[in-house]
Amino acid sequence: MPDTIFHKILRREIPADIVYEDEHLIAFRDIAPQAPVHVLFIPKHPVIDTLDALRPGDAALVGKLVLAAADYARREGFAQNGYRVVMNCREDAGQTVFHIHLHLLAGAQLGHFGA
Ligand code: AMP
Repeated sequence: MPDTIFHKILRREIPADIVYEDEHLIAFRDIAPQAPVHVLFIPKHPVIDTLDALRPGDAALVGKLVLAAADYARREGFAQNGYRVVMNCREDAGQTVFHIHLHLLAGAQLGHFGA
């Protein structure tokens, strides 16, 4: 499994603005935010490169990412207005970091997306 920038963040080799951490995942602000709030939720382990590599045994892991994002939105007070979660898989979706992650976007009226 190739090393990625997110592995380096997990190992604290490069800095990140970490907003949440527990035994399963960490969340930190995206370095190039696409919305006023843009936070990435990434699992600590196992390391999985894309959504396409997920297996049924990973269901709880993915659920934890989604629940952590929803909890964060409620805690930070923007759940009521709404938010978006996105997971990009490979090139056509624009995946650039091959360590699965969930984007949480909020803080403004978000435009529609697609090709
Ligand atoms: P994706 O395009 O879905 O693979 O998302 C990768 C995200 O990681 C992009 O939105 C990048 O802006 C973000 N990113 C890359 N390097 C860093 C970093 N060092 N700290 C925080 N976010 C990063």
